[in-house]
Amino acid sequence: MVLDITQIGNPVLRESCREVLREELQTREMRQFIDDLIATKRRANGAGIAAPQVGRALRIFVVEVKDNPRYPYKPEADLTVCVNPEIEFLTEERYLNYEGCLSIPDLRGKVPRCPHIRVKALDRYGEPFEMEVKGITAGTFQHEDDHLNGILFPDRSDPKTFSTWNEFAKRYEADVEEDVKAIVAQWGQ
Ligand code: ZN
Repeated sequence: MVLDITQIGNPVLRESCREVLREELQTREMRQFIDDLIATKRRANGAGIAAPQVGRALRIFVVEVKDNPRYPYKPEADLTVCVNPEIEFLTEERYLNYEGCLSIPDLRGKVPRCPHIRVKALDRYGEPFEMEVKGITAGTFQHEDDHLNGILFPDRSDPKTFSTWNEFAKRYEADVEEDVKAIVAQWGQ
């Protein structure tokens, strides 16, 4: 089922989300919820989505980038469900990621992100896993992880970089495409 996406101003987007118990992941209700979260992300063409974006203050997010019309220049990323994630930065370097958010209509902005991270989390079945994520996709993971702590991308952006989606497409998208290629060349996806 596709769920309604919460919009900025809704207090759930500012909550610090609670951890999910492994036993909860075995319940039919939680399995359905994660299916719904994935379906909602796909319908909205998000690169990722976090539980508070559908009104649940739980430490769960999903990342997946595939043929995405919202972000045509983004490298593809397989579907990953992260429960109770912990992110560790593996380099001091930062790059500027031009972000948008399903909960913030018609706004984009540049956010400094770490280009090489380690993610430790439970998968949707409660099994622990860890992975290293690089480049643009690492930025997506950090954006989603911020949602679990009530942080939205404009909190981390210089407001002078804000742009509507239309102005972005008209003025910045071509340059950003080049920046993304350079980041992918340096860091991989
Ligand atoms: Zn978001």
